Amino acid sequence: MPDTLSLAPTVIDGRVSIVRLHGEACFDCGAVNKTLREAGHVVVRGSTRVWQIVTCGCRSKANAV
Ligand SMILES: [Zn+2]
Repeated sequence: MPDTLSLAPTVIDGRVSIVRLHGEACFDCGAVNKTLREAGHVVVRGSTRVWQIVTCGCRSKANAV
């Protein structure tokens, strides 16, 4: 995979479940019993903490679209 992911993490609002930020559940749908894979990084608005997130594949990456 070409390393073309953005250098800056996606900024999100702070209403996401902590388990999603911790990479313990799909960031997009919250699934925990599926195969989860790395989906980039996000940072909660107003914070500098960068989180490694995962998804089950329901979305390819954490685009704020
Ligand atoms: Zn999902």
